[in-house]
Amino acid sequence: MTKAQDHITKVKSLPCALCGQHAPSDAHHILEGRIKGRKCSDYCTIPLCKDCHQGERNGIHGQQIMLKIMKENELNLLAKTIEKLYA
Ligand SMILES: [Zn+2]
Ligand SMILES: [Zn+2]
Repeated sequence: MTKAQDHITKVKSLPCALCGQHAPSDAHHILEGRIKGRKCSDYCTIPLCKDCHQGERNGIHGQQIMLKIMKENELNLLAKTIEKLYA
């Protein structure tokens, strides 16, 4: 396993960064699809449950309702993820 894969495994073992749903979570690459032609590094991933990730209304790939309710943004969630794993 590469170090990046190892990191992703750790991210997936954390509860959802938005609603706290228990692991396993999806590892979402922040700003995915919004940086033209580039995929974010595997180190730029945050743990999300299915609904906060892919949900049509709540999801980060949907209408991002949970992000708005929690008054969060993807960069801050990334910081919290790093803090949980390494601080
Ligand atoms: Zn969630
Ligand atoms: Zn995603």
